[in-house]
Amino acid sequence: MGTKFPLTGWSSVAIHGGHQAEPRHAHLTPIYASSTYVFDSAEQGMNRFTGKEPGYIYGRFGNPTITEAEEKIAALETFGLPIEAKAILHASGMAALSTLFLSNLKAGEKILTHFSLYGGTEELIHRVLKDLQIETIITDLHNLQQAESILQNDPAIRMVYLETPANPTLQCVDLEALISLAKKYGKKVACDNTFATPYLQQPFAFGADFIMHSTTKFLNGHGTAIGGVLIGTDLEFMKTTATKKHRLLGANSNPFDAFLLIQGMKTLEVRMERHCHNAMEVANYLDGHPAVAKVNYTGLHHHPHQAIALKQMRHPGAMLSFELKKGLEGGMEFLNRLQMCVRAVSLGTCDTLLSHPASTTHVGVPREERMKYGITDGLIRMSVGMESIQDILQDLEQALATQ
Ligand SMILES: *Cc1c(COP(=O)(O)O)cnc(C)c1O
Repeated sequence: MGTKFPLTGWSSVAIHGGHQAEPRHAHLTPIYASSTYVFDSAEQGMNRFTGKEPGYIYGRFGNPTITEAEEKIAALETFGLPIEAKAILHASGMAALSTLFLSNLKAGEKILTHFSLYGGTEELIHRVLKDLQIETIITDLHNLQQAESILQNDPAIRMVYLETPANPTLQCVDLEALISLAKKYGKKVACDNTFATPYLQQPFAFGADFIMHSTTKFLNGHGTAIGGVLIGTDLEFMKTTATKKHRLLGANSNPFDAFLLIQGMKTLEVRMERHCHNAMEVANYLDGHPAVAKVNYTGLHHHPHQAIALKQMRHPGAMLSFELKKGLEGGMEFLNRLQMCVRAVSLGTCDTLLSHPASTTHVGVPREERMKYGITDGLIRMSVGMESIQDILQDLEQALATQ
């Protein structure tokens, strides 16, 4: 950043944070499409490898476009907080999770987490970590007394892993309460902050050690690239252990995707304001609709976790889900009738995206199993976009007309 005074506004940091003056006076940091970097001398090569001199070496280790994206995210996740953090950009959210778990846990150690994790995270835990003898305890973390007794009695637990809000019913867990419990028993805490973004929620403010994002979603904001980031407040750990794992797992991002991410993050505040405003309108509209059995949105007073969401989030977010009374058939019919809103999985793009988990993401999951997670036959998941609200509502209205 070029200013001599500290930037105090959120969007100023989002726009200018992490930017370094360009030696060739390009306004934006270019896409550094180069796999390797030149040493002026053999001595310089040695100094870079031994860490005596900073500088780029090889594209899998780092790249100037990627560095800007990393520093911007770290600045936003620590905005207004008296702490520093280091971010490492990854090829995907799943890659960031792989670095997180594999750099913190070894065979015989355990993770404590809650129900309703992102599907990929749950599969990573069950299909990859389990084979490495890293076990996971999944429990109801709304029961703080029970959470405390598990933490107190199982010294093998090394990490508490939280995701809030979470799919598909927008369940929230209490960051302040759970992080302070975990700290009391000396456990590390990691949070998936993808749904909230650093604009709506800052887990570091409550003492989290790590934050991960799928940058594919709101941080990129335009649906143009897959990416993930791991951010940590233990700078030494991030620079050594986590960096080593990231490099050796080959989990690096690339300069083109990093460039798209940088441009996306600059508008995060204005985008989230609009997303959240539209989401509240949509939630109110659906809540009164005769074809809808239930709306899951933490902005509505009947959501069981509204108090938790209000306590730790600036706004209730842009994700919601609702249940159509007509079930499986109704869900598919509704999706087929949409004209402007887009039928797709993923979230966080300017365009409104809707999906029907029972016929897509969860089609292979036995019915009783998915019902436990609130994925009923007629459940529709919606990532409310930034279109003009009257057109979103009109599309929903006409698509619901036959329900
Ligand atoms: C998408 C997503 C992930 C995984 O991220 P990818 O970029 O798809 O690898 C993890 N957590 C949440 C909450 C997500 O929405």
